[in-house]
Amino acid sequence: MSAPVSIDGAEFARQGECLEGAAPLSALARLQDLLTDTDGTVAYRLAGTVRRDGKPSIDVSVAGVLRVLCQRCLQPVELDIEGSRKLVFVPGSTLGDFDDEEEDTDYLPSEDRISPLELVVDELLLAMPISPRHPEDACPVSLPLVVGAASSGQSLN
Ligand SMILES: [Zn+2]
Repeated sequence: MSAPVSIDGAEFARQGECLEGAAPLSALARLQDLLTDTDGTVAYRLAGTVRRDGKPSIDVSVAGVLRVLCQRCLQPVELDIEGSRKLVFVPGSTLGDFDDEEEDTDYLPSEDRISPLELVVDELLLAMPISPRHPEDACPVSLPLVVGAASSGQSLN
């Protein structure tokens, strides 16, 4: 099932709608520069609800495996990414009253349409480590030594 390009988020939430599926990594344009390949998919779920305070809200969750460059050895490393976030819709004119103090909660203007796949990408980027690496001592190739620190003529084997 492919996601609609855009939805009326506040209405989606009020109706209690739910959208879930698997987005091919190759369809997530903003991720392309980060990935070493685009095989595979990311599972996503958008679940609309109305909060106890009456505000329409969407729970966004994503999960998938991304392959990016390890920042230590520059070889591909698989990242198991999971993320979730609540989107809360309020009239745009009141947006300034909400300073996102709740953790993992974003306030959006209820007038704006939202793009499910863009939300998925946002969530993946937020859940991704700033400096992705293999686990300690698990890089598949020997690490380049700090330039200038290597002594010549000594084998590392
Ligand atoms: Zn590595």
